[in-house]
Amino acid sequence: MQILDGKETSKAIFEELKMKCAQRKTEGKKIPQLAAVLVGNNGASETYVAAKVKACSDIGFKSSLIRFDADISENKLLETVEELNNDPEVDGILVQLPLPKHISAEKVINAINPLKDVDGFHPISVGRLVQGLLTFVPATPYGIMLMLAHYKIDTKGMNAVVVGRSNIVGRPMSILLSSNTNPGNCTVTICHSHTRNLEEICSKADILVAALGKPEFVTAEMVKEGAIVIDVGITRVPDASKKSGFALKGDVNFAAVSPKCSFITPVPGGVGPMTIAALMTNTFRACAENN
Ligand code: NAP
Repeated sequence: MQILDGKETSKAIFEELKMKCAQRKTEGKKIPQLAAVLVGNNGASETYVAAKVKACSDIGFKSSLIRFDADISENKLLETVEELNNDPEVDGILVQLPLPKHISAEKVINAINPLKDVDGFHPISVGRLVQGLLTFVPATPYGIMLMLAHYKIDTKGMNAVVVGRSNIVGRPMSILLSSNTNPGNCTVTICHSHTRNLEEICSKADILVAALGKPEFVTAEMVKEGAIVIDVGITRVPDASKKSGFALKGDVNFAAVSPKCSFITPVPGGVGPMTIAALMTNTFRACAENN
């Protein structure tokens, strides 16, 4: 069993981006700039946005964090997105989800200029992804593809099972794994809460991607001997022994499942850091392609 180390892999991607960024600076070219918008003070969202802003500074990108109280109007948020669309200094726009209930995430995502859609959630980005065209790929599934590529895992012809069909993880993951690319070229089954015989379907997977948000849902019985297991889940569960008062749990029971795997991602330190590395890769590209 080999650990797919998201920390190490993302470090390598950061180093490469750092070099490319420094080179742009030397050549007098524009430095990539990410604008992050955070509404309200959800603990997990705060952590994610802080990590993205820190990543920008570690690499040498510029970043701005625009914060609003949870009661900001939808119109004000849409106006802010429009201002960022029109700001030539801003290459990538990220509106941290989830948004408060009175704001339509769909409207906000649709308002982002697709050329700055580094999260890859705009319908144009998704449409291009489905058609196999160059686009901004949502950071979590893109990060997983970068990790498979980093470890030179040849997925051609594999039977892949993705548990979860959200627009930000499961669905784009299924499209990427089924694409005519390397990694890719898998035969993909996508599962959700209405799937029958989930355990049996999972147990036939050469690659199993768990993205359902249910701590330790995937047990040893659901995993084939030698499978590659990608654990996307991050759930905060109360843990009095931690200073923060919570521990992060993946969707896979790591202790039980890992002995059966050829490769497995840990939580934390697997998919999480890769998501940030992928976002940074998208931000660099947004800048390089438009400047
Ligand atoms: P989501 O929007 O809640 O989607 C969960 C999906 O799982 C849904 O499609 C749901 O099915 C399916 N599901 C739920 N219970 C199921 C069950 N018992 N059996 C089969 N399928 C089931 O979640 P998400 O945004 O995709 O995130 C999933 C997990 O990944 C969460 O823990 C989240 O925190 C984590 N995440 C991690 C990162 C990272 O950087 N590591 C990034 C994003 C998300 P239905 O469609 O039928 O409801």
